[in-house]
Amino acid sequence: MIMGGVRENGRVTRVAILGGGPGGYEAALVAAQLGGEVTLVDRDGLGGSAVLTDCVPSKTLIATADVMTEAADSGELGVQVGTAVGVDLAAVNSRVRALADAQSSDIAATVEKAGVRVLQGGGRLASGDRVVVTGGDGSTSEFTADVALIATGARPRVMPDAEPDGERILTWEQVYDLDALPERLVVVGSGVTGAEFASAYNALGTDVVLVSSRDRVLPGEDADAALVLEEVFARRGLTVLSRSRAASVRRAGEGVVVTLEGGQTVEGSHCLMAVGSVPNTDGLGLDECGVRLGSGGFIDVDRVSRTSARGVYAAGDCTGVLMLASVAAMQGRIAMWHALGDAVSPLNTAEVSANVFTSPEIATVGWSQASIDAGEIDARTVKLPLDTNPRAKMQGVHHGFVKLFCRPVTGIVVGGVVVAPRASELIFPIALAVKSSLTVDAVAQAFTVYPSVSGSIAEAARQLHRRS
Ligand SMILES: Cc1cc2nc3c(=O)[nH]c(=O)nc-3n(C[C@H](O)[C@H](O)[C@H](O)COP(=O)(O)OP(=O)(O)OC[C@H]3O[C@@H](n4cnc5c(N)ncnc54)[C@H](O)[C@@H]3O)c2cc1C
Repeated sequence: MIMGGVRENGRVTRVAILGGGPGGYEAALVAAQLGGEVTLVDRDGLGGSAVLTDCVPSKTLIATADVMTEAADSGELGVQVGTAVGVDLAAVNSRVRALADAQSSDIAATVEKAGVRVLQGGGRLASGDRVVVTGGDGSTSEFTADVALIATGARPRVMPDAEPDGERILTWEQVYDLDALPERLVVVGSGVTGAEFASAYNALGTDVVLVSSRDRVLPGEDADAALVLEEVFARRGLTVLSRSRAASVRRAGEGVVVTLEGGQTVEGSHCLMAVGSVPNTDGLGLDECGVRLGSGGFIDVDRVSRTSARGVYAAGDCTGVLMLASVAAMQGRIAMWHALGDAVSPLNTAEVSANVFTSPEIATVGWSQASIDAGEIDARTVKLPLDTNPRAKMQGVHHGFVKLFCRPVTGIVVGGVVVAPRASELIFPIALAVKSSLTVDAVAQAFTVYPSVSGSIAEAARQLHRRS
């Protein structure tokens, strides 16, 4: 039995964490707060891929893309921008890299201030509760731990006939080395990452072709939201090739040629591969320690982040639960609350809010329309287009909607979707309602600012009121 970091025998609990992304560093902060003796082993820099190559860089790039979209759409509001608005990609990317490095340093300072020991290198589990760390120079060291957390993340999946070269055929980690805008970018993969980069480069001024193996973009997201996005993409001149699976990508002179499975070819100056991620779970000694891997090599965990091996927990992308920084962080915290005997609630993925940072953004929380349509949950739904919202009209927002889902009898809110500029900021009231089991009446009775886009959330709740 462990209570607050001190074991029954009076010794402080020694916690080993492999991986310094959101799963790892948030866990380290909780473990230190609870009195554990924490060692965090990280290979590539604190903040992990989330801060150094994925989330933070992409959202920083998208911040510039959003300004370009606003400038392009501002003519309707009487703004005269002329033809002088353009992007210096070298400057944008240098800002992206500087911001990511600064964020990583901030995290390192916070973690060290909390009393966490940080070791730089690749870690792996060894027998007898030992953790072996291999430094960049090949030297090894080891230490022992009572509890271990694996939070080693994931990396871009590479297709055998489309190997990135870092110059013309790129992963999402390599785009920040470009010093000029690609003339014509072929994005392979229309999931969240592919759609976000396609939307961003289109706004920055690149001619973009999005190759999608499915009927529509964002196959995992709300179908109505994906349709809005496809309409906006078409209006902005972004080409979507649906039901087109890329078979190979190769360099050809100053450009690339993407060959589709049907034999057709698509030419571009650059190609961005966004075909999913594979977990960093090899070479960690997991098998030897009895940590079971599921399909695709992801670590099997329960809702308090326990693996199949006693005392070994896992969090974040290496578990494949929901590949989001927010979920990684929560899984990591839950693991430490559980391991160090604090109060803990199991992870509830039905409460997770997520956002696709396209233009417009698509934010979701709770049960989805697809689950409701499939009869997995009984719910009433309402969808309000934003073109009747006064604030949206004033801002020249023509595309988007708010959806709200509630239980039929009680009216308890179980989910929602917002498609709008800054939807990531607008989803929070619905997330709060889902988390706190608020009824549509409770949501409807809260004041919203007039005029505001969030007024449509209250209006949707009012429309779901049922006379008893
Ligand atoms: C382009 C892109 C954009 C994204 N945008 C968002 C977003 O906007 N919002 C969001 O919530 N999520 C976003 N995500 C997802 C998010 O980045 C991940 O869910 C998140 O990084 C997972 O955190 P993690 O701690 O599991 O792993 P990571 O952030 O990948 O960190 C893992 C760390 O472990 C280290 N490591 C690996 N092996 C070892 C080892 N053997 N020993 C020691 N250290 C090791 C790695 O070097 C790395 O530092 C995005 C993903 C991509 C690809």
